[in-house]
Amino acid sequence: MAELDGSARPVVELRNLGKTYDSGDVRVKAVAGVTLAIAAGDLVAFMGASGSGKSTLMNVLGCLDRPTEGDYLLDGQSVAQLGRGQLAALRNRKLGFVFQSFNLLARTSALENVELPMLYSDPLIAHRERRARATAALERVGLGNRTGHHPSQLSGGQQQRVAIARALVNRPELLLADEPTGNLDTRTGLEIMALFQELNDTGITIVMVTHEPDIAAYCRRVVVMRDGRVRSDTLNAQPRNALADRHALDAASPDAVEAGSG
Ligand code: ADP
Ligand code: MG
Repeated sequence: MAELDGSARPVVELRNLGKTYDSGDVRVKAVAGVTLAIAAGDLVAFMGASGSGKSTLMNVLGCLDRPTEGDYLLDGQSVAQLGRGQLAALRNRKLGFVFQSFNLLARTSALENVELPMLYSDPLIAHRERRARATAALERVGLGNRTGHHPSQLSGGQQQRVAIARALVNRPELLLADEPTGNLDTRTGLEIMALFQELNDTGITIVMVTHEPDIAAYCRRVVVMRDGRVRSDTLNAQPRNALADRHALDAASPDAVEAGSG
């Protein structure tokens, strides 16, 4: 795993960050004064009850939404004052997204799904180069033999791996994943966490949301939110190993391997 000493460069710095939704008569303080830093190479889980502000915080981290109070520095750059276009550019350059429901284009091959972010970030890139980079990203997530498959021809775990390849293809500073295992069975969830741990071992910074303690146990750091604030922030000295746990599960129930394989 990447070194994580006190000197590690922060990818994310939140300073008294707040987000209030204001729809005229109703004001909801979804995030209220969060201060924290996330170092390069970390693997962080945000947990907390429904409505505690996890998704709102992820939307701010992902530059999909601006904070209403405080500041957010992404890779040292303050984003609070940026306009929509600048936020979009920053998003394309620095961030990769993974969602609970995969969000793949249905009538499009795995390869084309993974090529998509490059069409926005790098419209002048040569077709061959785009293909090559998308193929490499799919190989990286173990799907080099499924590049022509459409989402309906892939298992849930495979679809999520395509989504992860798509998130990685622009070489982001930070991978953001909101409940990435929420739609997957236990074994497939382990497979995705094993992939996250493998990517994290190569230095990729990952911030994810989960409400499952079993999933958070694979992360190096667990931040629990409550009413828009950080309730606890704990380092996990020895995260569980998802690959080992998956192998143990397969050994205990070999039938499930057949059914859920891939
Ligand atoms: P979580 O992801 O932890 O379930 P959210 O960030 O989705 O929490 O929501 C935090 C709070 O903000 C909730 O009270 C929710 O109802 C409110 N909220 C979320 N999104 C909006 C929105 N677009 N407009 C108004 N209120 C919102
Ligand atoms: Mg949520």
